[in-house]
Amino acid sequence: MNIPQLVWIRRDLRLHDHHALKAALDTGEKTALVFIFDPAILNLLSNKHDRRITFIIESLEELEKILNENDSSLIIRIGNPSEIWPKLVDEFQTKKVFFNKDYEPYAKKRDEEVSKILSKKNVSVQNYKDHVFYEKHEVLSQSREIYKVFTPYKNKWLETFKSQDSHIPNYKPNTKNLFTTKPLNTLLTKDLHLELGFHRMSDNLLKGGTSFALKRLHHFKDDIDQYDEWRNIPAINKTSNLSVYIRHGNLSVRDMLRLPQSILSAHKNDGASVWMSEVIWRDFYQMILDVYPRVEKNCFKPQYDSVKWVNNKEHFKAWCEGNTGYPIVDSAMRCLNATGMMNNRLRMVVASFLCKTLLIDWRWGEKYFAEKLLDFDLAANNGGWQWSASTGVDAQPYFRIFNPYSQSEKFDPEGEFIKTWCIELSHFDKKTIHSPHDTDFVEQAKAQCVIGKDYPHPIVAYKVQREKALFMYKAAVKTED
Ligand SMILES: Cc1cc2nc3c(=O)[nH]c(=O)nc-3n(C[C@H](O)[C@H](O)[C@H](O)COP(=O)(O)OP(=O)(O)OC[C@H]3O[C@@H](n4cnc5c(N)ncnc54)[C@H](O)[C@@H]3O)c2cc1C
Repeated sequence: MNIPQLVWIRRDLRLHDHHALKAALDTGEKTALVFIFDPAILNLLSNKHDRRITFIIESLEELEKILNENDSSLIIRIGNPSEIWPKLVDEFQTKKVFFNKDYEPYAKKRDEEVSKILSKKNVSVQNYKDHVFYEKHEVLSQSREIYKVFTPYKNKWLETFKSQDSHIPNYKPNTKNLFTTKPLNTLLTKDLHLELGFHRMSDNLLKGGTSFALKRLHHFKDDIDQYDEWRNIPAINKTSNLSVYIRHGNLSVRDMLRLPQSILSAHKNDGASVWMSEVIWRDFYQMILDVYPRVEKNCFKPQYDSVKWVNNKEHFKAWCEGNTGYPIVDSAMRCLNATGMMNNRLRMVVASFLCKTLLIDWRWGEKYFAEKLLDFDLAANNGGWQWSASTGVDAQPYFRIFNPYSQSEKFDPEGEFIKTWCIELSHFDKKTIHSPHDTDFVEQAKAQCVIGKDYPHPIVAYKVQREKALFMYKAAVKTED
């Protein structure tokens, strides 16, 4: 079989607004799509019930269905891309390979290796900006420096956008040039979960695929006006919940930006502005990881590498399992464990709690989130953790420490979120639910929950830990002086 061109899809699992696919199909040559399951990534997933595998397979199944309707089919392989690609181009006599750029350190190394191998075989390799709206060289300060603080970066991002007439390109692939094949070797008749050694997780709250992503985006139109107020209230779940779709590319970043832009071009709207800022945060963290790959393992601010974390393993276990005795932290962690999702405000609360109350290295928490989050994305996760631990770009100062009790009272005032995930606390009222250990035995009996028996005592005392955290950080910063 002869397939002159192949498009390698990775974190861009869609057929619309796809830069590499459009570029390939525009040449007029017949083109097929390839997806490779890479053991270097799969082997990191020790939980064989990983929800992300199901999400990816659902996304591929949707693509396959649409391709089959066009008499085309996905090419799926399992193996090391550096070994798979030479075989693929030999098998199909391919002359050109296209893909969209990925800015993670492992992906950059992988793509460089594959490109070298293919070039040696006289196969032309072309890559495209797709995953971000602006790349590192497109948003620079006046002195052509990288921004290390978000607000000036965002201002320049918006200024650049405006100077380009707020134009959002749409890379519409011409599907007429898709490679057609009969009989179809369709993945829809295979059990990919079984081949990969994973279980299908049929209870995922968010299903993989562009049709689900577009439905969510459409649905979110009704809520975007109030986003600036509602985003911090986990109980109402009124953020877009699109991060998992943008992570796997069921939607493009341009799809995301079109929504606030269409509103803001007509009138001022705080919800749309704040939401657009969040999408710009995503570009910012992608840019930071691209320019400073060392942040994957190290503090962005090197002086914090000498922080002497306490790293108590029992405390870490209690944090992971949602048994710290701090209801807002426990409910957030139990929600993460059960669904793979967590609201941004809660991510900040539990991350701050881990680093600045339990005095545990942010890398432990980052790794746990990487295992659990459905939307896990190295750049955003690393950026979020380093922000919370005060070690990163644009981090909050180390002496600003989230008080888990006041965060709880402010953002879950009725205790509704807590009651969903810590059901043993359901009978406490809205005043006592944030710190149930402060109640007496009579109140606990009335609430049918004895602290220390039905729900844990706080594993540490917040006020004491706060002082220890200040001391721990100060010592590290001093060492550097
Ligand atoms: C400790 C910590 C870890 C995080 N880990 C991740 C992660 O692994 N993957 C991830 O996508 N986001 C991560 N975030 C950012 C943020 O929490 C999620 O993007 C957001 O909660 C996803 O929900 P949503 O889609 O409803 O977002 P919305 O509030 O609707 O925001 C819209 C989109 O903007 C982007 N976005 C929003 N906030 C941020 C942010 N702070 N940084 C970067 N992009 C943002 C996301 O793509 C999101 O889908 C983390 C934040 C913290 C504090």
